[in-house]
Amino acid sequence: MKAMGFYENGTSNVIKQIEIDTPVPAPDQILIKLKMTSVNTLDLMVRRGVPGMNIPFPHVPGTDVYGTIEAVGSNVKKFYEGEKVISNTVYGCGSCKYCISGHEQLCPSWKCFGLHINGSYGEFITVPERIVSKAPSNFTDEEIAAMPLHASLAWRNIKGLGNATEGETIVVLGATGNVGLFAIKFSKALGLKTIALTRSDEKMQKLRAIGADFVIKQDNATNIIKEVMEITNGVGADIIINSMGNNLGDTVEMAAYNARIISFGVLAGATSSLNVRRLYLRNISIFGTHNASKSDLDNSIEFAKKKNIKPIIYKSFDIGMAAQAQDLLESSKAFGKIILKHWR
Ligand SMILES: [Zn+2]
Repeated sequence: MKAMGFYENGTSNVIKQIEIDTPVPAPDQILIKLKMTSVNTLDLMVRRGVPGMNIPFPHVPGTDVYGTIEAVGSNVKKFYEGEKVISNTVYGCGSCKYCISGHEQLCPSWKCFGLHINGSYGEFITVPERIVSKAPSNFTDEEIAAMPLHASLAWRNIKGLGNATEGETIVVLGATGNVGLFAIKFSKALGLKTIALTRSDEKMQKLRAIGADFVIKQDNATNIIKEVMEITNGVGADIIINSMGNNLGDTVEMAAYNARIISFGVLAGATSSLNVRRLYLRNISIFGTHNASKSDLDNSIEFAKKKNIKPIIYKSFDIGMAAQAQDLLESSKAFGKIILKHWR
């Protein structure tokens, strides 16, 4: 089969059209002919090379899985050839206590498409039946391809771990990232007061336009903490979601009593110091998460359908232009998802 992939780490120049074996579904797996996928920051990180990880070459990037069922394994019961489906982004061993309870992202042997194993930049992919869902009917192909990774992770942050309730205040750091954009839309629809942070002056107005109640320039930590405390009348934020990493300690300083801080990335650095006295005296909880569960995916799509929440699509490319699409993401110019359309 055809795929866009690479044989060495480097700039987007390493991405080529390659020919690899079409995967064969195991008894519990589904073979999906991919229709579209989206470009994610993870794709850039894996292409550059992840420290401490030896990823076999050739590597096919791509985490969002959306397409039509081409074939099913002998034990597959719920799906049929020709159905349009999406899948969750990770799966585990299928038999440990986490996998059995539907939390495969907690499995010690979890695998993520486009990271540990080949992803969705190819013509076909095999996926265990247990992480597959029917594609929602009331979205365009581009919108569906834009949802699995980022909608599910935004939902896990806000509801799965954040346990948000109407009237609470949420701070979304890195709000112009695609988890951030979903987080703002979900938060507004859940009745939260939403404070969005971005480094980009030109994107501040765009964040207001999609529903952020307050937008703060993400520059000086002291200013950010001061502004969040002013907006919340000195109380602090109930939920703080953050993929920056190195500013965990700052988020503790802007957290309310009983706040939930969710950390889902280390885009700016992996270490941070924090005031433990404030953490325990305020009963603040800190959670970490790297991917969402299958139920987070299903709940996020169901909520988006019910509230008519659509992903923001910035630009679509033919998949042969995957390198240009990655360059666009890397430039930080995009506001919304970048989509890749597969060969016909
Ligand atoms: Zn497992």
